[in-house]
Amino acid sequence: MMQDIMKQADKVLAKTYLRQPIVITRGEGVTVWDADGKAYTDFVAGIAVCNLGHAHPRIAKALCDQAGRLFHVSNLYYTQPQIELATWLVDHSFADRVFFCNSGAEANEAAIKLSRRYFHEKGEARHRIVSAEKSFHGRTMATLSATGQDKIKKGFHPVLGGFDFVPFNDIDAMEKAVDHETCAVILEPIQGEGGIRMPDSGYLAAVRRLCDDAGALLIFDEIQTGIGRTGKLFAHEHFGVVPDIMSLAKALANGLPIGAMLAREDVAEAFGPGAHATTFGGTPVITAAAIETLSILTEEGVIEKAVETGDHFLSRLRDLRDRHPVIVDVRGKGLMIGMELSVPGAPLVTACLKRGFLVNCIQENILRFAPPLIIEKAAVDALVDCLDELLSRK
Ligand SMILES: *Cc1c(COP(=O)(O)O)cnc(C)c1O
Repeated sequence: MMQDIMKQADKVLAKTYLRQPIVITRGEGVTVWDADGKAYTDFVAGIAVCNLGHAHPRIAKALCDQAGRLFHVSNLYYTQPQIELATWLVDHSFADRVFFCNSGAEANEAAIKLSRRYFHEKGEARHRIVSAEKSFHGRTMATLSATGQDKIKKGFHPVLGGFDFVPFNDIDAMEKAVDHETCAVILEPIQGEGGIRMPDSGYLAAVRRLCDDAGALLIFDEIQTGIGRTGKLFAHEHFGVVPDIMSLAKALANGLPIGAMLAREDVAEAFGPGAHATTFGGTPVITAAAIETLSILTEEGVIEKAVETGDHFLSRLRDLRDRHPVIVDVRGKGLMIGMELSVPGAPLVTACLKRGFLVNCIQENILRFAPPLIIEKAAVDALVDCLDELLSRK
């Protein structure tokens, strides 16, 4: 049966994704099932999206309750869930105002537009944005232009102008790049797609100082690192560095499409009526699900648990690294973990799939582990034991 479904997919779907050969029909907690009834422990979680696991009953209920009342009205009117969600985000972050949209790329689009508009309103001719090599900020024209990976831009030139790139963690290069034409620096506090790359100690603080000295804004793209993924609500809290603008998406509604762009008051000021908009952004059903997601995250101590499980996961993987030379490096924070190999990772992904584990490979040789934050140590141990056995075979 799965073969027929996949054959039909090959006929009608855009060929944009290289998919694993399973059709997933159901999920519960950290487990998903394919159409043949086989179970998998999910170490991908929609790529850092389903932080509370699949089909969470409380979120499903919040969603259904709201769907029974009101799906959608235009942002020409006020709706309560949107205001409640914005209030929660403002109460739990540096930000004063929130703009809602529908994806990570849209959140970064809003951040890019806001930083340019901010200087326009101030009457300053600044429009350049400095970004990092190996960054990932999205697939729309502006966000792929902001992304420091050639493969993402291939075939789409001319890309949007005004972006300068520097190596991540190179503060001298950043100092040279940030000048009186720079309106913003955009960084992932921990690079995700580019290979789970950690900032060196003091790097983000030094970037913050450079931005302050040059009068430029600092944008943190926390689309992947946010909402508890790294063991804090937002990853920048680990480093004691506060941005002026932050983008969120992925885990914010535990699997429903949402993006958010948060900013400090004086910056947010630059978006007046008519400056920016979206039809679906902040719609009641999705924001109701996001409110429930954030309530569970904080009420049930999920982030604290992720810290413990993440430490356990990292130490078990480091033990693997000490015994298997094919593992070059293990790194990460909380439950955002990368394992770099000296060989392509695809065969290992396939072998794990056969054994009932979903894992993801990025940059061809880095396995990324981003399970739901509610995962138990026993499930982590089962994956690590499986990896140990697979690596011992070679
Ligand atoms: C996933 C991701 C994006 C893009 O989000 P979409 O919802 O796919 O548009 C942008 N930045 C980072 C850091 C991401 O991980």
